[in-house]
Amino acid sequence: MLDIDNIRSEYPILKREIFGKPLVYLDSAATSQTPRCVVDKIVEMYTTMKANVHRGVHELSQEATEMQERAREKVRAYINAASTEEIIFTRGTTEAINLVASSYGDSFCNGDEIILTVMEHHSDIVPWQLLQQHKRIRLRVVPIDEKGELRQDMYEEMFTENTRMVAICHVSNVLGTVNPVKDMIEVAHRHGVPVLIDGAQSMPHMKVDVQELDADFFAFSAHKMYGPTGVGVLYGKKRLLETMPPYQGGGEMIGNVSFEKTTFSGLPYKFEAGTPDFVGIAAFAEALDYIERIGIGRIEEHEHNLLLRATAGLQSIPGMRIFGNAQNKSGVISFLVGNIHHYDMGMLLDKMGVAVRTGHHCAEPLMSALGIEGTVRASFGVYNTEEEIDTFVAAVERAAQMLG
Ligand SMILES: *Cc1c(COP(=O)(O)O)cnc(C)c1O
Repeated sequence: MLDIDNIRSEYPILKREIFGKPLVYLDSAATSQTPRCVVDKIVEMYTTMKANVHRGVHELSQEATEMQERAREKVRAYINAASTEEIIFTRGTTEAINLVASSYGDSFCNGDEIILTVMEHHSDIVPWQLLQQHKRIRLRVVPIDEKGELRQDMYEEMFTENTRMVAICHVSNVLGTVNPVKDMIEVAHRHGVPVLIDGAQSMPHMKVDVQELDADFFAFSAHKMYGPTGVGVLYGKKRLLETMPPYQGGGEMIGNVSFEKTTFSGLPYKFEAGTPDFVGIAAFAEALDYIERIGIGRIEEHEHNLLLRATAGLQSIPGMRIFGNAQNKSGVISFLVGNIHHYDMGMLLDKMGVAVRTGHHCAEPLMSALGIEGTVRASFGVYNTEEEIDTFVAAVERAAQMLG
């Protein structure tokens, strides 16, 4: 079992009170809280070694560069990528997917098809739609069944000779469904089609091995996994990244520049134009160390217990509708009670100190498919306790009585 008291002591924010009530933070799927060791790293960098990376001969610059490249190696080992050349630092999942859509998508032609799923976050929909402004590309969308699992039979039938890409989330940020991405990648590869996995919601909660999955691209954000804001990662297979044109131009990504001809750096720098958030990147490596010290398996087990407890508690409330009952489900629970508006429920829970997310969760197409406008969503992190789940369930029950 985890020593939750000890874990919580690393998060000063969890001692806050909201409207005179102890904060119950159940919005980790939007962003997780950040432990002191990660914040300390940021402070240490700013106070003792801030200098631009790859630019200077001076000692400070070399230290900063070394820190960033150590972080790259840390990320590589963490997801078991074959090489640090395959680890590109971005601002987050969104930028990572935009990079692939823009750069890899550059080679797509009119008539090409991309397979997405109905449970994608807007950041795995809109970048592909932007491509449609220049090319007549067709998006095909895998639907879900009543449990909130992807229709694998329909997925397999969607491939045609024009399919160029599959882009799917590993875990739904609304339904909590853990998609069988390894199998789905295998299906795509049988058709010779590469797969991008949006790992924003899987990386904080489970072990990910990109080679074992055989993912072609894998995107994730540091801020959802106990790390800082403004840092993310695109993993890409070297073979693919090498064929792709730069995404943005600027410093760092070039070989030589003249007004006649500019050459580009090799991987991964070709895709890292401008000064990166090297402070955030170093702090992200600290966050990965933090997760490893606790053990991702133990975090997963803890969050699963919280999910079971919350589900059982909520199900006992009259009029409760839970969206997403997948066999394999991560620590996210979306619901509505009777005809109560999600926003009203969220407001009342907030008054009781319980922080949940309400609305469409950047997944409007999924809301449409479910025939609703939004849900209330509670999501869990390593620092949440069983007592907090009980407080949450009691608060939902009380709010339902007040609003019902
Ligand atoms: C949060 C999230 C994103 C976007 O992440 P950013 O950090 O905002 O770029 C993409 N996909 C899923 C599934 C998410 O939960």
